[in-house]
Amino acid sequence: MTNINNLQQKAVSTITKYALNAPRYTSYPTALKFEPLQIDPLPQALNISKAPAVSLYVHIPFCKTLCYYCGCNKIVTRHNEKADEYLDYLEKEFLSKRYLTDGRRVVSLHLGGGSPSFLSETQHTYLMYLLKKHFTLEVGAELSIELDPRNIDKRYLQNLKCLGYTRISFGLQDTDYNVQKTINRVQSTSHIADLVFEARSLGFDSVNLDLIYGLPNQSLDTFSSTIAATKAMMPDRISLFSYAHLPERFAAQRKFADETLPTSEEKASLYNLAVKSFTSIGYEMIGLDHFALSKDALAIAKNQGELHRNFQGYTLRGDTDLIGFGVSAISTVGNAYAQNAKDLKEYYSRIDNHLPCSKVGLSLTVDDLIRRDVISSLMCNLVVNKLAIESKHHIKFDEYFASALNNLAEMKQDSLIEITSEHIRVPESVRIYIRAICARFDAYLNTSETLSSYSKAI
Ligand code: SF4
Repeated sequence: MTNINNLQQKAVSTITKYALNAPRYTSYPTALKFEPLQIDPLPQALNISKAPAVSLYVHIPFCKTLCYYCGCNKIVTRHNEKADEYLDYLEKEFLSKRYLTDGRRVVSLHLGGGSPSFLSETQHTYLMYLLKKHFTLEVGAELSIELDPRNIDKRYLQNLKCLGYTRISFGLQDTDYNVQKTINRVQSTSHIADLVFEARSLGFDSVNLDLIYGLPNQSLDTFSSTIAATKAMMPDRISLFSYAHLPERFAAQRKFADETLPTSEEKASLYNLAVKSFTSIGYEMIGLDHFALSKDALAIAKNQGELHRNFQGYTLRGDTDLIGFGVSAISTVGNAYAQNAKDLKEYYSRIDNHLPCSKVGLSLTVDDLIRRDVISSLMCNLVVNKLAIESKHHIKFDEYFASALNNLAEMKQDSLIEITSEHIRVPESVRIYIRAICARFDAYLNTSETLSSYSKAI
């Protein structure tokens, strides 16, 4: 008994030690490090890009109601006609960035938000018309979309299927009524289940459910019910996002009383419960926080070592430039990141005045590129092949990362990481620490002010 108590105590103290603020590393450097742009970096970045193909991302910023936990760039409105105006501006941006796809295959499209389900069926049909007018989507391209299940019905899904969407994602978040009320997102689980089954019978290639752990009033008990409901729907993929509590940046999060939020130890228990529950019924774990059935393309890519990470999370597409459209959308072309204006009026005004939509961004240095490869490999595969990094970047890994390796010594002692002459490996059982581990390779996390911009790693 004493031994079990000691082990539990050690686990708790390890979580406390490493539950510090850290980025989610959908990019390196992270978007918070982007700087104001004097000129549009994309034309020059295109000249050095070696990507043979292109992915498109379209941001639809509107939502009908505000979920209090939300950290997305969104505009809450009930005026659907605002989307008509927005689509007109999107077309102008499509035109201005069409040169970025010239001579290259367009292999995927992703619609995110806000909530793309804010658009009516007619607006979706028009948006697809615009996309096809300005870009040639490859036959077999992956067309994916995020949906708020509260706004849609089966007919809506049928329209999306007719338009060619192949992968859909529903925000399930949490099925407990008390949690839903606290986060201002009350939704019916049986309605979502109906949509999932309809999507499956319509023949979408992949159906995804998003869950969030760490929300106010969540407990192991309530989250067990959410997990059980998810299992009953058996989606092809599950995303298990950690709630990012940043009340200084997102005012609505101030509505949550501190005592209703799970502690880091409780969050770790919620995460571990989900991992155990989903992997025990055949889901493969992907990176830090995704699951996929073994027949799903994401699981296949993981097993072939071809998983990548971009601003939308884990992806199969590593050989593409990403072109973002719409307010706050981020593009990655060659070695440059560029983010559109985050404010809708400014986005419109830039287009009206024939200015580039990109307002901030970054051209990656050689050091950024090396660290990006290391962090991406850890986030996707839980391992870094030192020899591969050495041969790609012409460095001596242990010398180049002497300081990071020094900083990892304590984690090694705590059995969170294995370091050999050839590899750095994170054991599967402690993958929850991966953000904290990646942070050791981040050259920008050098001030407490920088750190406080990110949510807790656990
Ligand atoms: S969580 Fe989604 S639907 Fe809710 S406010 Fe944020 S973007 Fe809108």
